[in-house]
Amino acid sequence: MSQSDFTSIEDVLSGETVGKTIQVRGWIYRTRSSGNIVFMTLRDVTGVLQATVKRGNLPDAEFEDAVKALIESSVQITGVVKEDKRAPGGYELQVTNLLVVNFAEPFPITKDQSPEFLMDQRHLWIRSRKLTSILKVRSTVVGAIHSFFRGKGFYEFDAPVLQPNQCEGGSTLFEVKYYDEKTYLSQSWQLYAEAGVFALERIYNMGPTFRAEKSKTSRHLSEFWMAEMEAAWMDLSDVTMLAKEEVKYIVSQVLEKNRKELEILEQDIPKLERIVSEEFPTITYTEALRILKEKEGMEIEWGKDLRTVEEDNLMKHFSTPVVVTNYPLEIMAFYKPMDEKDPRTALCFDMLAPEGYGEIIGGSQRSTDIAAMTQRLEQMGECVGNYQWYFDLRRFGSVPHSGYGLGVERLVAWICKAENIKDTIPFPRTLLRFRP
Ligand code: ATP
Ligand code: MG
Repeated sequence: MSQSDFTSIEDVLSGETVGKTIQVRGWIYRTRSSGNIVFMTLRDVTGVLQATVKRGNLPDAEFEDAVKALIESSVQITGVVKEDKRAPGGYELQVTNLLVVNFAEPFPITKDQSPEFLMDQRHLWIRSRKLTSILKVRSTVVGAIHSFFRGKGFYEFDAPVLQPNQCEGGSTLFEVKYYDEKTYLSQSWQLYAEAGVFALERIYNMGPTFRAEKSKTSRHLSEFWMAEMEAAWMDLSDVTMLAKEEVKYIVSQVLEKNRKELEILEQDIPKLERIVSEEFPTITYTEALRILKEKEGMEIEWGKDLRTVEEDNLMKHFSTPVVVTNYPLEIMAFYKPMDEKDPRTALCFDMLAPEGYGEIIGGSQRSTDIAAMTQRLEQMGECVGNYQWYFDLRRFGSVPHSGYGLGVERLVAWICKAENIKDTIPFPRTLLRFRP
């Protein structure tokens, strides 16, 4: 059986096969029979197609199989393509042969089931049109990230997943037994990337990242994919510009490749088009507090991190992502340097997405001050000895360098307007779930 013997549903729906006898294969999406006729809808990765099976048009045994076959049975069908205004997509297949490759058992997923049940059935639920569409967008996003960085001369650089050090705070570390010792799953690629930039100058990576998030939110996974970059000789303003360009590029790729999926997901396509053409503003943390106070009447004490509710209220005033720089130094990770121009703050930024999707990127210039970093690590109760290799990077030819990490699922959630980040990854891992 050669691949070219089969026509994709997308090609049938394009109208180019009208009147021809073709073969399609896929899974029964819906089916209903009445007397001597079976109406089925067939799905493959490219779309759904109505197929009409009439007794007499195909061998009797095959007609009986069509009556018997339940949804999600896999089939190969031969038929003649007819135009039919009433059929979804405008075409239907009049079946002349039908081979059931596998008779499905009664499918456990029916209408109106609870999110928890659907999570238990995730291995089957990923076939749904909604998830399939989001996963296609995700694939475009991942491809776009690689092409964006490679197009700019960045090298892909891999860091270990098992790491002895923390990067983003001890409370979200996943501990792993490592022979007779213990180690942790990667919270970030960054510390190793900082070694890499002295060899390759401009590097990026996208990989699974692990954080034991202790609270249930619609924005946090325990295992997510982070796309990170790090570059020698770049400062904060260089990387914020790059981050804006990257997000615009990714959205433009989705618009180019996933129109159909965006339509299935009922997305506002003109709104996404404006993301590509409009400037993303840059404001400081202090300005963000002012906006919250003046426009929302929210009084936030200077020095406190922006919580979800503050981020969401701030973003009500913007229709594109916004870069927020200069968060208070005190609440930042140990490697974020002080801004000489405003010493209470760090040379760092977050990019916040509009419409309540929160932080999609976090980044900073990296400190080159060993004494300051040692002091911060000691305050955090960290074993400073473990970071001597990292400090070596400041001892041997240190240069200004910066980087950021983009949360792949957060970005996909925003582009697809997913209600929950869990729908943007095939098998989500969260505080309450690591199965199936
Ligand atoms: P948040 O404050 O939302 O927890 P963070 O400050 O911990 O985010 P960073 O350490 O800056 O995040 O990580 C970079 C990016 O990775 C974030 O901007 C976000 O897009 C993504 N990210 C971080 N934690 C998670 C998570 N638990 N699940 C999914 N994505 C995440
Ligand atoms: Mg976090």
